[in-house]
Amino acid sequence: MTFTLAIVGRPNVGKSTLFNRLVGKRLALVDDQPGVTRDLREGAARLGDLRFTVIDTAGLEDATDESLQGRMRKLTERAVDMADICLFLIDARAGVTPLDEALAEILRKRSAHVILAANKAEGAAADAGVNEAYALGLGEPIRLSAEHGEGLNDLYAQLMPLSDAFEERAKSEAPETDVALDENDEDEEDTYRRPTKARPLQVAVVGRPNAGKSTLINKILGEDRLLTGPEPGITRDAISLALDWDGLPVRIFDTAGMRKKARVQEKLEKLSVSDGLRAVKFAEVVIVLLDAEIPFEQQDLRIADLAEREGRAVIVAVNKWDVEPEKQEKLRHLRESFERLLPQLRGAPLVTVSAKTGKGLDRLRAAVEKAYEVWNRRVTTAQLNRWLTGMLEQHPPPAPGGKRIKMRYMTQAKTRPPGFVVMCSHPDKLPDSYSRYLVNGLRTDFDMPGTPIRLYMRSQS
Ligand code: GDP
Ligand code: GDP
Repeated sequence: MTFTLAIVGRPNVGKSTLFNRLVGKRLALVDDQPGVTRDLREGAARLGDLRFTVIDTAGLEDATDESLQGRMRKLTERAVDMADICLFLIDARAGVTPLDEALAEILRKRSAHVILAANKAEGAAADAGVNEAYALGLGEPIRLSAEHGEGLNDLYAQLMPLSDAFEERAKSEAPETDVALDENDEDEEDTYRRPTKARPLQVAVVGRPNAGKSTLINKILGEDRLLTGPEPGITRDAISLALDWDGLPVRIFDTAGMRKKARVQEKLEKLSVSDGLRAVKFAEVVIVLLDAEIPFEQQDLRIADLAEREGRAVIVAVNKWDVEPEKQEKLRHLRESFERLLPQLRGAPLVTVSAKTGKGLDRLRAAVEKAYEVWNRRVTTAQLNRWLTGMLEQHPPPAPGGKRIKMRYMTQAKTRPPGFVVMCSHPDKLPDSYSRYLVNGLRTDFDMPGTPIRLYMRSQS
């Protein structure tokens, strides 16, 4: 079992139906610890080649109306804390209800990985409900039919990369790594407890071999910084380690350690790339570490682009700044290259550091914190619509074939990264340049530099 998936959602959306489908004949393993049994059941699930534990939060049918919301809330929180990934179901036929919204709020705040699915989505009757689901702020919903087994491929596609990452984590957390734990008992316990409320911010450090990733991570760890993970980076086999970065709890995905084992250069390149990919998929903030001597190499560009496409908050850090002779001139040059080669990351922070001396690491830390904050930023619908009106007036959309494209309404559909839906006539005819105009406007007017911004054009029905 690589990970635990909790199916959450209000009663009657189809959780049990999906649970049964995932668990199949491998009967639900009912845990009879008091308090756990009645509300949560657990089973061994299979989806394609994925094996995982699934938790179902059923069993609230008998709740009286006034207590339903409260109990639902508690139960969902418990399931979220037990699980690595939450699958949030809504009923596409019923549309989004206030209880769905309340649960979405909990999930947005509390769960690191949420997959949204609109169930009962077989047939066109579900279209409106599926569209409404965007407004929950949890990204693009999967169209699912638990009863008919439709949409399971899409669920698989979303689980697969996460599963890979969790598998790596399981390996790095396996007891045979035989690492010295901190003497402090409390901390020792902490190391094996899954982070829940104060979930560390997930950071990946990626970059070419020899960019200085290991040096950087070791420097951040410092001498007296407390390791809260069971897999200290010191072993250099670790895939991730949790630490307190001057008061900021982070889990750093180290793509260097594994690579160090590879001997042949070719193998080394391959490993570091696929390693980097995995780390990117799992991270919230990605630090692309460049070597000041040879910045923006193909490999750097590829991984930065991937991080953007995966929707991560990206920071570009230029390392070995201590040995850079012409700092001013170099910086100007770097900024220029950055804009030209990575236009998709416009406004992302460029931080110069020396992993060796530690200079600039405080600014790097601040950039990580800020990028994370922007990545989570939420803009109200009222603000957005006022803004949209202004943007349309300033520069109206084109009128292909004499018919002007109209945009009536805009809302933020998701965070992490921020995604917006615009209700639009003939979205297929809208030129990319106009979308870019809106995206760049959002960046500037709502102070969202660097973070990938998604803009979805939806036709009005
Ligand atoms: P739970 O309370 O969330 O566990 O929901 P259940 O799994 O008990 O399902 C509630 C009702 O919705 C049942 O009557 C199911 O047969 C029905 N249902 C579940 N999935 C689907 C689906 O994909 N399509 C349709 N049309 N009905 C479904
Ligand atoms: P990795 O392959 O990305 O993990 O890179 P390493 O951390 O192993 O560093 C590669 C080489 O660059 C080592 O010789 C480091 O000592 C050196 N190095 C790393 N960071 C710095 C730095 O900030 N300044 C200087 N001058 N050298 C550095």
